[in-house]
Amino acid sequence: MPFRILDDALGAVGNTPLIRLDKVAKVNGLKCNLLGKVEFFSAGGSVKDRIAKAMVQAAEKEGKLIPGKSVVIEPTSGNTGIGLAMACAIKGYSVIITLPNKMSLEKEALLRALGAEVIRTPTEAAWDSPESHIGVAQKLQREIPYGIILDQYRNVNNPLAHEYTTGPEIIEAIESTPSTSARPSSGKVDVMVSAAGTGGTVTGLSRAIKKSHNKDCVIVGVDPKGSILALPVELNAVDEGSQYVVEGIGYDFIPDVLSHSDVTEWVKTSDDEAFTAVQTMMRQEGLLVGGSSGSALSGALAWLKTEAGQQIANTEGKNVVVLLADGIRNYMSKPWFLEIALEAKPSPLAGVISNILQKS
Ligand code: PMP
Repeated sequence: MPFRILDDALGAVGNTPLIRLDKVAKVNGLKCNLLGKVEFFSAGGSVKDRIAKAMVQAAEKEGKLIPGKSVVIEPTSGNTGIGLAMACAIKGYSVIITLPNKMSLEKEALLRALGAEVIRTPTEAAWDSPESHIGVAQKLQREIPYGIILDQYRNVNNPLAHEYTTGPEIIEAIESTPSTSARPSSGKVDVMVSAAGTGGTVTGLSRAIKKSHNKDCVIVGVDPKGSILALPVELNAVDEGSQYVVEGIGYDFIPDVLSHSDVTEWVKTSDDEAFTAVQTMMRQEGLLVGGSSGSALSGALAWLKTEAGQQIANTEGKNVVVLLADGIRNYMSKPWFLEIALEAKPSPLAGVISNILQKS
């Protein structure tokens, strides 16, 4: 795309790079291409900017938003809120975000920096209880004049934003990168891996890829242990209801926008696997991704070890795309980040450095 002046920051939403994860692939013995769709490059820092922009634009078109009057209220794990607060700062709507306690201080600070009100809610509250982030948002909406919930859990513009932007960007990047002997490519998205929160991303990606690009693409959904989004339901049974630290993915109900029939297979992942994968992406690929990106990568690597996965893993040129939803900016003060960041790395330089520093 030629460079041109953008009207505002919303013009810098999406259009994120697809980046080879060659070192991760090599270390894991993969012959296929492993590619990351790196969403922290978007203006608000995550994949959810896309749906925030789409939901606000659609509501404006329908005459549901009035500048200077409307109060946009949204229950979110943070990133949708950041996207909405960014869009509403630009367009002149007030914003109230309801945010479960477990979500990072960085997200709350960013929301407040963008001018939003933030109300914390108990993480353990069931989704349909009045205390949950969803319940509190509904209560506020009933009482606040011009209050409106765009509702990422039900809004068709959530999956559509990915069907119209995220998916086509991935397809275009793959189709326009030639296959060479050094870097063979099938020219197709053969496997698409995405962790699920509302499920809008995985659903929209599946539709974009299967409708017009590759109907045989394997769509892998990743769900944290403790959540109930995965199928078959037995996958969830063991750890159902247990708490997990990773943010933005997993739920205790099935959001309307998650279409199970658009997902080929599900993989469950743990916090430990996710955070180790984040460290790997940082140290081996220089990518400053967030926790759910680690879930997605560890889910992808787990799926590639299955029987169907092995056929892909061992085939040169097959393209396995992993959606990396946000960046580490959101989690810098979290203990898990400090642990992986500060963990000593075996270094050939350690001896050299201490020799130099010991010299008088
Ligand atoms: N990762 C992060 C960090 C997120 O904030 C979200 C959105 N909640 C997701 C993944 C999942 O995206 P979706 O809601 O489209 O399933």
